[in-house]
Amino acid sequence: MHSILLAFLHSPPLLIPSSTPAMCRIHSEGTQHGCGHYIITREVSKRDCNSKGCIKSAMHPPSCPNCACKRFLEPDFQETVTAKTKDFCAHCQYWFKKNGTAPPPQR
Ligand SMILES: [Zn+2]
Ligand SMILES: [Zn+2]
Ligand SMILES: [Zn+2]
Repeated sequence: MHSILLAFLHSPPLLIPSSTPAMCRIHSEGTQHGCGHYIITREVSKRDCNSKGCIKSAMHPPSCPNCACKRFLEPDFQETVTAKTKDFCAHCQYWFKKNGTAPPPQR
């Protein structure tokens, strides 16, 4: 008995009944820059949450009345670094030219 209960509790989040709101997530490829930023170069695939209440989903009706649906993607479910460079990303390069120093540390 107890082991069945534990197996249920340890099941991955995707198997939790669909009352839990899900959101679309993407798998991206990108470049890891010297400044610490990961810049997406390609969207590999999208995981559709199949929710009518999510504007990113294929299930969302195009003529949704008074659309107040979710508009944002969750953080990428997978980020694949395809290239690494010591250069700063465009944003940080701009900062460097303007201020002559490295940008403040980013996490
Ligand atoms: Zn979605
Ligand atoms: Zn809507
Ligand atoms: Zn940067």
